[in-house]
This record gives sequence, C-alpha cells and structure tokens, in this order.
Amino acid sequence: MKTVRRVTVSTPGGKEALRLAGVEGREVAHMAFADIEEGSAPWLAFTALCSDFSSTARYVFSERERAEADWCFVKGGKHAGYAIDGFWEVCFDYANQCRTCGLGARQVMPLRLAKVPKLSHGILLELVNLWGPLLTTPSSFSEFFLKHNVTTMSVHDEKGNPIEGLVQLVAPPFDPGHIEHRTERCSTCGHDKYWTQIGGFFPRLERYPGGTCGTSIRPFGGGAGLSVWYPTFVGGALKAELIARKVKCDLWPVAD
Ligand SMILES: [Zn+2]
Repeated sequence: MKTVRRVTVSTPGGKEALRLAGVEGREVAHMAFADIEEGSAPWLAFTALCSDFSSTARYVFSERERAEADWCFVKGGKHAGYAIDGFWEVCFDYANQCRTCGLGARQVMPLRLAKVPKLSHGILLELVNLWGPLLTTPSSFSEFFLKHNVTTMSVHDEKGNPIEGLVQLVAPPFDPGHIEHRTERCSTCGHDKYWTQIGGFFPRLERYPGGTCGTSIRPFGGGAGLSVWYPTFVGGALKAELIARKVKCDLWPVAD
C-alpha cells in the first residue's frame, strides 16, 4: 500500500528545500508543502534534509492514524501570537535556569501576550515563541479538560491584566521515563534534553500519564539558544472526544 504524506517546511527557503529533495512544492504564506510517497527517493532525500531543518518541518497524519493511536502529543491548532519580549524574566523563575540551554526555568507568573488573540470555543492555541503551553477558552476547558485532572492558569495581556476568555492549561506532570530519541547535552549545565521530533510518529514513551492527560517533566528542545519545552500528551477518552468534537488542535500520534 502506498502512503502519501503531506510535508510542510516553514523556513524562508522551504520551496528550495523541497526542490533539493526532488519535488516541486507549493508555497502559501510562509509555508512550502508537497505530497510525497513514503519510501520513495524524494521521501528519503526529504527526511535526510529534515535533520538540517530542525523543527521547521512537520508531518501531517491521517485521521485513521490519529484515531488508532493510544496516545497523542497535542499541539495548538492555531497560533496565539507572541509572548512579550523578555517573557523569561517576567513569567519565569529563572534563578536555576541555565542561560545556555534554558533548562531549569519554572513558570511562576501568567504568560503575557503581546496581542490578544481571536478566540472561539473548541480550539487550542499555542504561542509562536514559546513551545509547550496550550491556551484555550474557559468554556473549552470546562467541557473537555476539567474532568481529566487538568487545571488552568490565567493569561495576561502585555500590561499584566488578565485576558478575559483565555486560560492556559496546566496538565498533571509525569515522568515519561527513557525515550529512545536523540538527546543533546548542554555544554554549560551538562543536562540532556530531547531533540524536537520532526518526522514520523512521536517516539514511544516508557511511561504514560496516570490519567488521560499529562505534561512531560522531561524537556525537549535541541539546537541553539533557550529552546526548551515540555510536551503535553492526551490518551483514551479525552483524545477520542477531541477528535469527535473536532476541537481545533494538532494531534501527533505516539508510536506504540
Ligand atoms: Zn544548559
């Protein structure tokens, strides 16, 4: 059976990257995309190229793959814009933060957004310049997440006033154990973080959240600078409900 994957590349040179892999991509806004058959020569060339494009290339999974996965890594279905400049200092306790890799920072204050995003029920949002946090409306939180041991934190505007109609999801933390995935050791603090997954299923976790939703205490990131983030996973009834109710989010199947 042939499996065709839609791949997208968001670098300025995205179309050129696809051309290097031997396919003619199309470009919309800041994204170049193409449909490539898995296992084909362009596919192999593209996946090899991905290692140079870090987190800028991503997979699009079929509905069946999402439905059949026991667990999915969940990302926002849309961007909520940017956290304000200097958000690390304002929103995080960075006393124990490594200034090379960003590990050790703890969010202690509500996130502050540079602009209030457009809001609607049944959508999860993520920030452009800070991966990990998922934002949603209070009504979506109550309907989908409240019964799964998820709590919330308020989200602030640039002046520090609460944004009405927007909350940050706070899922129970859990330790996913050892994940067979590439890690990077920071030359300053000596700690490891997992590289961001860019193609294929999310690597299988050794342990899953006790319930149906949880945020990894093991960090992901990779690459230069303060890139560090903590993925949230959904499984079972919650994942099925997000799919059935067409909640706008990006569900990324975890390998079984
Ligand atoms: Zn470090």
